[in-house]
Amino acid sequence: MEGDCIFCQIAAGQAPANVVSETERVLAIRDIDPQAPTHVLVLPKEHHNDVGSLSAVDPSLLAEMIATGTQIAENECDGEFRLVFNTGRDAGQTVFHVHGHVLGGRPMTWPPG
Ligand code: AMP
Ligand code: ZN
Repeated sequence: MEGDCIFCQIAAGQAPANVVSETERVLAIRDIDPQAPTHVLVLPKEHHNDVGSLSAVDPSLLAEMIATGTQIAENECDGEFRLVFNTGRDAGQTVFHVHGHVLGGRPMTWPPG
């Protein structure tokens, strides 16, 4: 665990979160600042900085995260969703523990504002 990483702390049960689903390796929590009726963050319990580094070392864990997000969207928004992995500060990444944003429940425009 990275000591000052909020998502490591949540995964370790040391910080609060609204948990949507949990497996041995993957956690899904509600975003504290939701941008859509469904806004869930899917993350591995293990620390990886971003989606690229995770895909390089453990693609099956990334696949499990995507399957988790898909299942949540099926439960909450008819299986229609946007899955976003911000990578790097310029892309809007603020938490450097990989997480996918599962967004759904409202029409989405492209490109995002
Ligand atoms: P990103 O900007 O892609 O790194 O996404 C980070 C997301 O984490 C933002 O949408 C925040 O609202 C959300 N966030 C930050 N801290 C927490 C927390 N403690 N619990 C739930 N969501 C959080
Ligand atoms: Zn972490």
